[in-house]
Amino acid sequence: MKTIQHWINGSPVPGALTAAVFNPATGAEQARVALGGAAEVDAAVTAAAHAFEAWSESSLSRRTQVMFAFRQLLVEHEEELGRIISAEHGKTVDDARGEIVRGREVVEYACGLGDVLKGSFSDQVSRGVDVHNFRQPLGVVAGITPFNFPAMVPLWMHPIAIATGNTFILKPSERDPSAADFVAELYRKAGLPDGVFNVVHGGKDAVDAILTHAGIQAVSFVGSTPIAKYVHEKATAAGKRVQALGGAKNHAVVLPDADLEFAADHITAGAYGSAGERCMAVSVAVAVGDAADGLVEVLERKAREVKVGPGDAPGVEMGPLVTKAAQERVENAVGTAAAQGATVVVDGRGLKIDGHEDGFFTGPSLLDHVTAEMDAYKEELFGPVLAIVRVDTLDEAIDLVNANPYGNGTALFTASGEAARRFQRKVRVGMIGVNVPVPVPMSYYSFGGWKDSLIGDSPIHGPEGIRFYTRPKVVTTRWPQPKQQVAAGFTFPTSN
Ligand code: NAD
Repeated sequence: MKTIQHWINGSPVPGALTAAVFNPATGAEQARVALGGAAEVDAAVTAAAHAFEAWSESSLSRRTQVMFAFRQLLVEHEEELGRIISAEHGKTVDDARGEIVRGREVVEYACGLGDVLKGSFSDQVSRGVDVHNFRQPLGVVAGITPFNFPAMVPLWMHPIAIATGNTFILKPSERDPSAADFVAELYRKAGLPDGVFNVVHGGKDAVDAILTHAGIQAVSFVGSTPIAKYVHEKATAAGKRVQALGGAKNHAVVLPDADLEFAADHITAGAYGSAGERCMAVSVAVAVGDAADGLVEVLERKAREVKVGPGDAPGVEMGPLVTKAAQERVENAVGTAAAQGATVVVDGRGLKIDGHEDGFFTGPSLLDHVTAEMDAYKEELFGPVLAIVRVDTLDEAIDLVNANPYGNGTALFTASGEAARRFQRKVRVGMIGVNVPVPVPMSYYSFGGWKDSLIGDSPIHGPEGIRFYTRPKVVTTRWPQPKQQVAAGFTFPTSN
């Protein structure tokens, strides 16, 4: 059986300990993954620190050329990488290709780094004195990423970190680790020097070693909220810069003036796409006033139409969940919702796919009359379950969204500009869609939620990514003419 190895200093490195990697569509173990700890992290830091000496001195145009070459390789290998992701994650190959394209956009942003990294200059701030600023890389930085986007989420981090002159250690999810090694190989082919991009596989041991290693300057984390809080606390206590993105419970609010067919179509795709395993998945539909009955009717029809099957089969829209534990958790949550008084309009439990009876499948579930007190509303289920909460007014819907501890994404379906404006100004959420169900920002904006969806204060990629992976310097310069007398004063300098 194949063992997925670490990638340190430009070469694969085996690990003594390993864990199983499953094919979620068959339920079978298909590979082993190395489990790293303090020794592997230390080896990666040593390689990355050594590589930093030359990489941080390389020219902007050299770094940009590597990014252009890397981008081209991502285009050429999109299908292959999509299949690697689908086989370990379970999502459809087309959906996996979609995440590669969205991740590639961050590489494209990094290709334009020469423009983004320009500093500013102020002439004659005082007589004979000018000021300019510029930004420099931090050193060795690390990224810890979740299973649900094994290509895209790391791509939110490493292109910007590397293009700004840092060296990078990726600790991907142990559930779908192969994409990380494939990307390492593409970087090598793109001409990236050894040691600039490294991969250490594993779980908590590898993470803990990263959080406390004195040679790592900054940690980017994306995953569930409890781990985001843990990472933020531990790494900031160790003096590191941290960005930590957490979980979500995203509400799509539907007003009575919305086109219900359009809204239901988009909410269905947002709820059940990637089996609901997206941090921007729609997990709650908030039906306002008269919208409710009509909306539920269309949502039910559309949920029953979703084509579920293995991610590499043609025509399939939704694959299995990532693990058996996830399948059981989601199916139990549907049962708990029913016991707590929700109406199970569509029950996805117990779905069997011919020829894939041991796969981790569950069908789309639709729950009506869910209230804010029920577990199905409070918990991030991270599966194909859409809960409908009924309220009377838009203001009540906004209050519901704001009372939720998460604040990643939200959407409003309406024909009213006034309602859309009120909604976007009042909701305490970081990413908002108006008639757009999954409002993931483009790479030249930054991605990040509010409240428990983002711990600390640093969103990811775009301008915030540049800021995160660099430190500013401000230089005040005077070039007096030869023999020119400039009196030095004992009072604090002012700029007259
Ligand atoms: P997770 O928190 O279980 O794992 C994330 C990373 O942390 C993995 O690399 C994992 O190995 C590591 N980890 C897990 N348990 C740990 C522990 N006890 N100590 C130290 N490290 C640990 O998340 P997941 O299940 O892989 O991914 C799904 C979660 O990620 C969901 O909550 C989802 O909302 C969230 N997510 C958020 C965003 C966002 O942008 N806000 C994007 C994608 C996913």
